[in-house]
Amino acid sequence: MHTLNRILQAGKLVPALEQALHARYSVHRLTDEPDPAAFLAEHGAQFDAVVTSAAIGLSAQHLAALPSVKVISSFGVGLDKVPVEEAKARSIAVGYTPDVLNDCVADMAFALLLDVARRTAEADRFVRAGQWVRLGGNSFGLGRKVSGARMGVVGLGRIGQTIARRGLGFDMEVRYHTRRPVAGVPWAHEPSLTELATWCDFLVVITSGGPSTRHLINEEVLNALGPRSFLINVARGTVVDEAALIRALQDGRIAGAGLDVFENEPQVPDALTGMDNVVLLPHIASATHETRQAMGQRVMDNLEAFERTGQLISSAY
Ligand code: NDP
Repeated sequence: MHTLNRILQAGKLVPALEQALHARYSVHRLTDEPDPAAFLAEHGAQFDAVVTSAAIGLSAQHLAALPSVKVISSFGVGLDKVPVEEAKARSIAVGYTPDVLNDCVADMAFALLLDVARRTAEADRFVRAGQWVRLGGNSFGLGRKVSGARMGVVGLGRIGQTIARRGLGFDMEVRYHTRRPVAGVPWAHEPSLTELATWCDFLVVITSGGPSTRHLINEEVLNALGPRSFLINVARGTVVDEAALIRALQDGRIAGAGLDVFENEPQVPDALTGMDNVVLLPHIASATHETRQAMGQRVMDNLEAFERTGQLISSAY
């Protein structure tokens, strides 16, 4: 038994999880403290667990001020803001919530893909602005056919494979790029990201974030994608060189982009908000009642499993 006496909540969580957590454990919210660093310097030793999220994360400095922590349970699958290496070095267990969000993130990749290609958000703005009434008939213009198109998936992990399977329903030809080919999948591996970009009509980015994927989608990849093809990013803002993307869109070197994530969230560059051929979402790919409920449940299940057995259901390392 690893009884968890005191839990540090790193920031705001979805209400159902916050409720469940506070009903079961003694929890302190770090965000209630005006000076979190000073609070941790004085009280850090009393906490034996941290609950956080992919969006909030936990700084390595804060973890260093928590000498008794045995487990971190994070809401989300992204680990780019969670100090996994530091935790590992101290044998601190790190739990996260993979798989339960695959469907919704894949669905949202397709929502963005369909939207930017068929121009639905733009057409909605056109109708609401009274343009249809003013200009009449077929005044809105044409989109890009999705069914039967070529989709390049960058990152073919849990979510990437779910996105690739969605492509089947649209009769798409699918290829993917990862550092290592994935065994047992029906899609062709493309070792060169630039080649994949040249080949496809839609380049869907779903790698992990962090330093190893920073600006993977750069000027060269965008030029290879070309003026008739689209970029979709549901991974992390850091994976795409946002300045290079803006220049490519401004010059018409790519056809458009569907973006759920940005380099400096929640800031979205004015250059993007002014463009009709981009669809912009506020990082909501997993944000459905069903999936957020399942993610919250996994955060709780990870803590309870750790208490009972010392093991997590979903361990990040
Ligand atoms: P996985 O770990 O299952 O998959 C990650 C994939 O990325 C692997 O196929 C990996 O292959 C590939 N990859 C990693 N680094 C590189 C690289 N340098 N070049 C090419 N491919 C690379 O993760 P999930 O599918 O579960 O999740 C993926 C990411 O999606 C998360 O890390 C998170 O950041 C993001 N996400 C975004 C959400 C949103 O709200 N928009 C919601 C949930 C997740 P290999 O190692 O062989 O290269």
